[in-house]
Amino acid sequence: MRILRGLSSRLLPCGCLAGIYETYDGNVVTILDERDETCRDRRHVNGNVLPDLCPARASLSRADSTRADR
Ligand SMILES: [Zn+2]
Repeated sequence: MRILRGLSSRLLPCGCLAGIYETYDGNVVTILDERDETCRDRRHVNGNVLPDLCPARASLSRADSTRADR
């Protein structure tokens, strides 16, 4: 998997920071960027892909409109 570009990042409820990246395949993946020291999830390791958090493109734009909502 090769990363094309970073799209955004999000703070997870556990305190970890995850980055959302687009790959050269056109997929969008969520990769853990910075593990919070209080996080107890063993899958949350820096650089790990988090499959259950993978947003589809549609949900990405939905998140954008939610953020713009006043
Ligand atoms: Zn975590």
